[in-house]
Amino acid sequence: MDTRTLGILGGGQLGRMLVESAHRLNIKTLLLDAPGAPAKQINALHDHIDGSFKDAAKIKELSQRCDVITTEIEHVDAAPLAELEKQGFEVWPSSATIITIQDKYVQHKHLAEHDLPLPYFIPIDTPTTEALEKTGAELGYPYMLKSRTMAYDGRGNYAVKSSTDIPAALEALGDKPLYAEKWCEFTRELAVMVVRGKDGQVASYPAVETVQENSICKYVYAPARNLSSELQSAAQKLAREAIACLPTGAVGIFGVEMFELPGGKLLLNEIAPRPHNSGHYTLSACEISQFEAHIRAVMGLPLPETIGEMKVQHCVMYNLLGEETIDVAKNSLSVEGASVYLYGKAEMKKGRKMGHINIVGSTPAEVDERLARVLGKKEPKRT
Ligand code: ATP
Ligand code: MG
Ligand code: MG
Repeated sequence: MDTRTLGILGGGQLGRMLVESAHRLNIKTLLLDAPGAPAKQINALHDHIDGSFKDAAKIKELSQRCDVITTEIEHVDAAPLAELEKQGFEVWPSSATIITIQDKYVQHKHLAEHDLPLPYFIPIDTPTTEALEKTGAELGYPYMLKSRTMAYDGRGNYAVKSSTDIPAALEALGDKPLYAEKWCEFTRELAVMVVRGKDGQVASYPAVETVQENSICKYVYAPARNLSSELQSAAQKLAREAIACLPTGAVGIFGVEMFELPGGKLLLNEIAPRPHNSGHYTLSACEISQFEAHIRAVMGLPLPETIGEMKVQHCVMYNLLGEETIDVAKNSLSVEGASVYLYGKAEMKKGRKMGHINIVGSTPAEVDERLARVLGKKEPKRT
């Protein structure tokens, strides 16, 4: 299909699922990450590069052995990618896109400058007690203190409920570059996957409902339950607008997280320039998964406008976190409509994403009932 080799920065679960999709299209992939990383385990065809996706020398070495570079994570060193682009090397999404997204304050400023709706946010120049008290006076309590960089699974967030929380907040995040957001009283969280090609073609997947527990995604309902068709369209439109305003070279799949407010107003939460946890359902519920869509986009293959359409009526994705993984994964093998994806992570840690289960069905009740059996419960789970 394609004789070019795709280099991928990062070999975690997203890289692993990208590799699977690329292989179905006969596209060779070369990975840069630690030895034995999840994506390397299923791709023993080539000599991958052992090292960090933050190491400029390793990124250069990767570029010498592939034709196109992409990334499964935004926390990469973007400077060597910019150098490669100057030499005419293909990097998708572009370094400019990654730079705009990887610092969440820069990302929010960029989106706000393009008049897109966000929770009110302010910078914090120096993390001191006085600065956080001033922030409380401006935003009110509670407010969300956020690390500008390296955030994932809520680990860079601290909910400051009152001024008495400030010492603990500084203890948790005081060594990081910070900003703060007004607390958002959302009714629920939605997310939309958007794919963008090199010629600017855009397609979106349906808006899904994501349910976070302790700031980590636990369930994703696709499509979002009881969402009016107006709001479904509005969420996809907002997600497309957010991607359209990114710097040139915003090519690939993007996850757009948003908050739904009482009355149906939508605010953006954040963008991920890569496959996203809220898009894992596409592996079971769509003709073309988010991973294949990304491969197609970065390799310049066709992206039909209908790429995001679902082939089943309903799907729930359940994240396997930490110790529960093996028991729940085993249960899922006996439940109709359920498919399990395990990531091959070396170590089980509390709360760590070890895999996920997609459950498809023809009604929300059927999906709930199947999920209850996967979880070993008799009564359907209500969220
Ligand atoms: P991810 O793993 O999605 O990259 P992250 O670590 O970058 O997450 P955010 O998406 O910023 O963190 O926040 C994680 C969760 O915390 C959100 O999904 C939401 O549930 C909650 N949250 C974030 N910002 C706010 C806010 N301003 N008000 C209320 N809750 C918030
Ligand atoms: Mg994030
Ligand atoms: Mg998030």
